[in-house]
Amino acid sequence: MNPNFLQTPIPYLKGVGPNRADTLKAELGIETYRDLLHLFPNRYLDRTQYYKIAQLQPSGADVQIVGKIIHLKTVGQKRGKRLVATFVDETGQMELVWFRGHKWIRENLKINEPYVVFGRISKYGSTFSMPHPEMELLSEHQQGVKIAMQPIYPSTEKLVAKGITNRVVGKMMQQLFIESKGQFPESLSNSILEELLLISKSEALFNIHFPKNQNLLAKAQFRLKFEELFFVQMQLISKKLLRKQKIKGMPFETVGEKFTGFFENHLPFQLTKAQKRVIKEIRNDLGSNAQMNRLLQGDVGSGKTIVALMCMLLAIDNGFQACLMAPTEILASQHYTGLKELLGNMDVKIALLTGSTKKSERTLLHNQLENGNLNILVGTHAVLEDKVQFKNLGLAIVDEQHRFGVAQRSKLWHKNEIPPHVLVMTATPIPRTLAMSLYGDLDVSVIDELPPGRKAIKTVHRYDGNRLKVFGFIKDEIQKGRQVYIVYPLIQESEALDYKDLMDGYESIVRDFPQPEYQISIVHGKMKPADKDYEMERFVKGETQIMVATTVIEVGVNVPNASVMIIESAERFGLSQLHQLRGRVGRGAEQSFCILMTGHKLSEEAKTRLQTMVSTNDGFEIAEVDLKLRGPGDLMGTQQSGMLNLKIADIVKDNQILKTARYHALQLLKEDPRLEKEENIPIRKAYSRMMQNKTIWNYIS
Ligand code: ADP
Ligand code: MG
Repeated sequence: MNPNFLQTPIPYLKGVGPNRADTLKAELGIETYRDLLHLFPNRYLDRTQYYKIAQLQPSGADVQIVGKIIHLKTVGQKRGKRLVATFVDETGQMELVWFRGHKWIRENLKINEPYVVFGRISKYGSTFSMPHPEMELLSEHQQGVKIAMQPIYPSTEKLVAKGITNRVVGKMMQQLFIESKGQFPESLSNSILEELLLISKSEALFNIHFPKNQNLLAKAQFRLKFEELFFVQMQLISKKLLRKQKIKGMPFETVGEKFTGFFENHLPFQLTKAQKRVIKEIRNDLGSNAQMNRLLQGDVGSGKTIVALMCMLLAIDNGFQACLMAPTEILASQHYTGLKELLGNMDVKIALLTGSTKKSERTLLHNQLENGNLNILVGTHAVLEDKVQFKNLGLAIVDEQHRFGVAQRSKLWHKNEIPPHVLVMTATPIPRTLAMSLYGDLDVSVIDELPPGRKAIKTVHRYDGNRLKVFGFIKDEIQKGRQVYIVYPLIQESEALDYKDLMDGYESIVRDFPQPEYQISIVHGKMKPADKDYEMERFVKGETQIMVATTVIEVGVNVPNASVMIIESAERFGLSQLHQLRGRVGRGAEQSFCILMTGHKLSEEAKTRLQTMVSTNDGFEIAEVDLKLRGPGDLMGTQQSGMLNLKIADIVKDNQILKTARYHALQLLKEDPRLEKEENIPIRKAYSRMMQNKTIWNYIS
């Protein structure tokens, strides 16, 4: 085959043409033969199986049944009008239903003749029914050519409207296989193929699109999933190796006066075992010759800040500067104040830089950074601006990393001639397998223990009808001197509506909690940063008892005296978000509460989320449930889901394959790091093509 064959632009394929090509590109991102070839079916309809009516299950699956129509009638009025056929086989009876095309069907259907019907099953009362079945007389069915497993390709409304139906996509695929004669270059080595008993690339591609039977389909899926995950791992691992070999780090060799001084005189509590372990892991990295690129995971309240501080002190001890970046102004200034407090009278120069830092201050700051007078810079994205230049940045810490884009992370790398060590801290617990595939190029540390003496937060679920009782409870808590968060959902698609919900809620709270007895703060996304900070400050200082907010307070905010978290419309939040919000309380010595408010109408999934929240405080357990409910894409937020861009593998379900793929990628890179061996040439070719085309994600510079 011509090696560039798969690069052929899709309009060249017989039956495509410019119009269809435009639609394919817009809807499915298909531009070349290769793109089309890698459009894999979502599912398959099994036309080899015939079901008996007595065997049917209300599974929503498509099934194929042989039987006869014994009766046909029209029922219902106007829009509810439908044609209902009683369909029987020797085991029972069911209904076939049509909402449209009655006249044609009435004229063409044959009563008492054997038919094969095919379609999706649903159940009403005790009767199974199949709306708009595909129908074929048994006699014709037996003569026709059978595709055993009928592929169903991803589709969109636009595609169908433009005539690119599943059948048409199938035809295109056939044409592609005719033009290519079904021969595609192998991309794995013989030894891997043999060891894992994989079928060849050409066989796999054929059977993924035109499966001869279940068994071959399964083999094709396995082979293609393995391959996909294998190349992702190849990329991650070689990046990591490259970084360790090539990117010279700046070894922090001494543990000096700042670190020790802080440890001996300023540490306000004993470190937990987990904190000690993690600091050790980080110190090992920092002391080596390689650049550190580490992910620090720790549930909310597990005490990541102190770890960050001690690492920064280590940097200072070795003559370097450090910076700590947070996603919002509120968080950045909390970090700033918190760190200053921890440092006390120590001789460490620390400053805050955010979007609202005044120009005069900024200029001063820039100078101090450049001449090295400043040791620690805390800030928001503002830190990344080109104008911000360090004398010698040795360590960059990013808090709550999922709020930061990839490009931003890479900007940090360029803040110094030799890239600084990077520590990324996240409170979103990421299940291990996911961490391995998303951050396979990072090292991971976990703080899996909370500081002692924390009281577990009590979480309950209450219906909106019980609001008065809940308000009563809030009043009791305020009476005891506590503070309360009331949070409203924020869903970007309908900002106006969310805003209205929030304002309505705010007004009713103001009514139920009248001044001057109660003081209420409000913070939402439409406010100016300065106003937000002002309101936040009032709450932090205890001047207000209630904080009404959208999810802007989600991450990191620390008000130990706040002990009640009310989450309105809790069913609209995802699990990890609920967990993050709950983490805002339970930070002080008092018993804390989280109350999830909802209406009565709840989806099954929402119920599972609420139950999970009520039953556990363990972030990792919650992350596992979340992963199962939503899949990895959503779990990480839209930012990360795009990055994975997997076409066939699913990092949750195909966990086992992922591990195998990682193992083999590691082996290969150990034995033949430059892929020079004869037998690894197919891998090298495939890999370098992917790297060129950026078909595998590529998110760290
Ligand atoms: P997070 O991991 O969510 O960023 P923080 O670093 O904000 O957590 O810590 C939460 C609270 O726990 C802070 O008030 C901090 O002072 C306290 N804390 C952290 N480590 C310990 C410890 N080892 N013992 C007692 N309290 C601690
Ligand atoms: Mg934090």
